[in-house]
Amino acid sequence: RAKSQGKNGYWFYDPSLEANARELLQLAQDLRWAVQRNELTLYYQPKLDVSGETIVGVEALLRWGHPTRGLILPERFIGLAERVGLILPIGEWVIDEACRQIANWRSMGLTDWTMAVNLSAIQIRHSALPDIVYAALERHAVAPHCLVLEITESTMVDMDASIQVIERLHRMGVQIAIDDFGIGYSSLLNLKRLPVHELKIDRGFVRELESRTSDEAIVSAIVAMGKTLNLRIVAEGVETAEQHALLSGIGCHSMQGFLFAQPMPADRLVESIEQDGARVRLKRSGVNASA
Ligand code: C2E
Ligand code: MG
Ligand code: MG
Ligand code: MG
Repeated sequence: RAKSQGKNGYWFYDPSLEANARELLQLAQDLRWAVQRNELTLYYQPKLDVSGETIVGVEALLRWGHPTRGLILPERFIGLAERVGLILPIGEWVIDEACRQIANWRSMGLTDWTMAVNLSAIQIRHSALPDIVYAALERHAVAPHCLVLEITESTMVDMDASIQVIERLHRMGVQIAIDDFGIGYSSLLNLKRLPVHELKIDRGFVRELESRTSDEAIVSAIVAMGKTLNLRIVAEGVETAEQHALLSGIGCHSMQGFLFAQPMPADRLVESIEQDGARVRLKRSGVNASA
């Protein structure tokens, strides 16, 4: 029975806790079938150059189309998948599906895009990860440099095991990005130890950019340091034109955020773009409105 501790130290029965636990258990059971039943799907959010127009890549973001609950966001089930031992098969599906999509877009002439895939801590410690990535690249005839694996500082819990895996991926030619950069305590230390290609500045800094001058100083410092290390700097969570202007002034290389486009299914993304020679641009209208 679910219990929680009251003010005066007594334990009392809390029905909402039990309901929560039961719901989680049910969700975990449903998740076991989600891969086989094809309920998982990837949405894609474009990443743009400083102009905010030309697409340079996309980030794959996992969605679960639950048969009765509707679309579930990763924050509700990734942690659960990690705890119940499902993150490895789910992560493997994500990698394969992302590679399949790269090959699909390439067949449509959209050749220059990079595809970013988020990894969980458990995947990064998993010594078979490089083989899984290699097999997916082979299966879909995708060049390794097209794939960008996003890791966060908090996913690097076991540094030594993670570094070995990341170095093997790096030797294969896959790109590595540090996601949500700037919030971890060991940011600078990690950068020195890891073969990283890209830094994604955490949305928290971008959000505060207009109101707090200190965040502008932090972002400027991150960009300056990243450039010294020859890294590509991406700003995530760009929501306003003012943020976009500040970030391009500071010298970020690319941008991601609702100002430009929301994450969306592959076919909707294709409807939202127009090709102009080798450049692929977002159409000016209708993109921001799509959820
Ligand atoms: P993330 O990798 O930092 O992804 C960015 C998140 O910010 C996405 O949320 C995206 O929809 C959202 N976002 C993008 N632009 C804006 C904006 O302008 N404003 C705001 N407020 N939000 C914006 P989403 O898709 O719910 O994903 C949340 C997190 O779940 C991701 O954060 C990532 O850590 C994790 N995740 C997503 N897909 C996967 C996956 O396939 N595997 C693993 N292990 N984790 C995943
Ligand atoms: Mg990410
Ligand atoms: Mg992020
Ligand atoms: Mg995040």
